[in-house]
Amino acid sequence: MKVGILGGGQLARMLALAGVPLGLEFIILDPSTESGAVRLGEHLHGAYDDKALLTTLAEKADVVTYEFENIPSQVAAFLTEKTTVYPCANALAVAQDRFVEKNFFHQLNIPTAPFANITCLVDLQQAMTTIGYPAILKSRRMGYDGKGQIVLKTEDDLAPAWESIQGVASIVEGFVAFNREVSMLAARSPKGEVVFYPLSENKHDHGILRVSEAKQNDPLQQKAQDYVDCLLKKLDYVGLIALELFEVEGELLANEFAPRVHNSGHWTIEGAETSQFENHLRAILDLPLGSTKARGFTGMVNFISDVPDAETILSIPNTHLHLYDKSARKGRKVAHVGIRSDEQAQFSAALQSVMTLANACDDA
Ligand code: AMP
Repeated sequence: MKVGILGGGQLARMLALAGVPLGLEFIILDPSTESGAVRLGEHLHGAYDDKALLTTLAEKADVVTYEFENIPSQVAAFLTEKTTVYPCANALAVAQDRFVEKNFFHQLNIPTAPFANITCLVDLQQAMTTIGYPAILKSRRMGYDGKGQIVLKTEDDLAPAWESIQGVASIVEGFVAFNREVSMLAARSPKGEVVFYPLSENKHDHGILRVSEAKQNDPLQQKAQDYVDCLLKKLDYVGLIALELFEVEGELLANEFAPRVHNSGHWTIEGAETSQFENHLRAILDLPLGSTKARGFTGMVNFISDVPDAETILSIPNTHLHLYDKSARKGRKVAHVGIRSDEQAQFSAALQSVMTLANACDDA
């Protein structure tokens, strides 16, 4: 079987690495020859909306998936006419637009921060009379890792924020004083089989994920599963999904969902019986899904901007290095380290040591 992937970055790379033992081949459409996945399969080199390349992708692949959600809707529609695309175009359409996405959560009775649609400065001024400060202005589309987001602290921030977001369609949402951020990853097959991973607890800095830890027996596991289950059923979803949530005093507020494998699930490579990458592939190929059980104490640390040499990292016991085959650049995710141990104390010690190395890379 051959799997087509739109995008050739680290998520596609880890999908391909998980798929080889299953006897899968990969064909990857990506505009860059430098991307980390393109050496692991057949590379279709060109733009994501190149119809000739999309046709080749659809013809050669048994199923097409993607590693990022900002795929133009015409591209998803074009591919869907020619082949099976998972997750479906509808899931993409909802996840691509923060206003549509937040309304979708509300339809399903999944709570969120208060929000409003913003098309002009007057909308923003009016919305702030009910939302209250602090708040965040976010572009409806093309935002990720905190990009296209501006914090609003007082009325004086409104006009400059609207100018700096360049008047693009946006939402404003209340700033959530959360106790912690978590994400729930789950996979669903075409037959409707669903598996849920243990909740990931995530720490971000400047909007970018730094650290995720698997939380076994978390008191909010069931509530998070229930929310994701609603999403999966409503979207008739196939593949891996990640729902990002804020915890506020024992309650969960949904922030956004990603219709793809997710950075907060990288710990599953060593830390779960079946990784998120393998379960995504199993789901889209209509194979039985694998156990999501965590294997001991586990988590992952992102390396942003740069990464030390392998020896430095691997001298810390219980660590596993994943390089993305990307050159060092400020603010770029270049690698992650998975950590797993049967002992809590060993896990915590390794996490601390790896975080010290990761912080030094990003501060350099
Ligand atoms: P996003 O691009 O929406 O995932 O936002 C990236 C990160 O910014 C989140 O993981 C949070 O750390 C932070 N953030 C986003 N929205 C809010 C909010 N309404 N209140 C507080 N922090 C937020």
